Amino acid sequence: MQAIKDIYRIGYGPSSSHTIAPMRAAKIFLENNEPFETYTVNLYGSLALTGKGHHTDRILKEVLGERAKINFCLDRSKDNCFEIIGRNKTKEVLWHIRSLGGGAIEIAEFPELDDNKEVYELNHFSQIKQYLKDHDLSLIEYIKSHENDLEAHLNEALNAMLESVERGLKYEAKINDDLKIDKIAKQLYEQAILKHDDDLKKMSYAYSASEENALGHTVVTAPTLGSCGIVASLMYYAYHDLKIEKDRLIQALMVGGLFGNIIKTNATISGALGGCQAEVGSACAMASAMIAFLNNEDLDVIEYAAEIGIEHHLGLTCDPVKGYVIIPCIERNAVAILRSFDAAKLSANLLKFRTHLVSFDMVVSSMNYTGQKLSPELKETSLGGLALEFKDDQTA
Ligand code: SF4
Repeated sequence: MQAIKDIYRIGYGPSSSHTIAPMRAAKIFLENNEPFETYTVNLYGSLALTGKGHHTDRILKEVLGERAKINFCLDRSKDNCFEIIGRNKTKEVLWHIRSLGGGAIEIAEFPELDDNKEVYELNHFSQIKQYLKDHDLSLIEYIKSHENDLEAHLNEALNAMLESVERGLKYEAKINDDLKIDKIAKQLYEQAILKHDDDLKKMSYAYSASEENALGHTVVTAPTLGSCGIVASLMYYAYHDLKIEKDRLIQALMVGGLFGNIIKTNATISGALGGCQAEVGSACAMASAMIAFLNNEDLDVIEYAAEIGIEHHLGLTCDPVKGYVIIPCIERNAVAILRSFDAAKLSANLLKFRTHLVSFDMVVSSMNYTGQKLSPELKETSLGGLALEFKDDQTA
């Protein structure tokens, strides 16, 4: 398993696989090659179909220069991948890159990327649980023994999450002219205060971070940007409303990150590869485990919470309307933060009366299977599902 650190990447919205991943690849290309006279990027699969709405071309031009040529290639045989080509009169360099979700990339011509290094020997939660038992270790001790630079990074990620929610609660703005959608987080928060409604407050926090993402502002993958509102909402609620110390929240991020990492390793966290169950489902599992951890529950309850968090998102499709990370994404983040609290509550109470039959590893395997069976129309291509309802609509 790779580093948990990479589950939490700080970057510009609206999509980790469509903005952070191409941006990182383009920067690495520039750092490792001589300057070229021209740059061309060919986008395939979901990157071609929803790249415009996800600002892929804009971010690539920011890195490679305004004159870079971005081609949206409607070749259905290639999934979430792209090519970067640098040319001058005497030389041409071509890189083949795959966007893996959460901003992770695989560059065929440059395999020695830091974030592709294996850091953990064990890939399944059952193995980790047994290891902790055999060595009398806590989950936090286990994680820290594998990543000694994690705390500093998580401190930064936590602050960026808190700032994203805080910022979004303060102002009103139009999110998108095409969809005629305005920000709503501030009004939701004001309603929550007026009605003393904690659930509405949590949803307003999720709206806030997700709207910041849709606006292309700085947010944090958890595990992706499309699903960034869920863990950010939890962190903001825990810090501001429950007054939990940052050190404890950083530990919670470690726990959530481990579950996200197991999903990334054994299934996928990419909507383009596995549908929204891989993004919002994974984020809900992470947040569910984190809530159980913050409630001082034992490892079985934490695992069960994560399992419930993802089980009831199985089969969830990714069908962003007009290719924007707005509908259904933002509302879905708000619904999932409440589901996380429900999952943590249910797991703590159910386990008093019976053991659970479905393990976290089982549900991850099932999610992977389901993701492979989902048709390409329902995996971030905007060719099916809800997106189809608005295909010719000018006033969604
Ligand atoms: S529907 Fe889900 S997976 Fe698809 S772009 Fe929106 S948040 Fe991401």
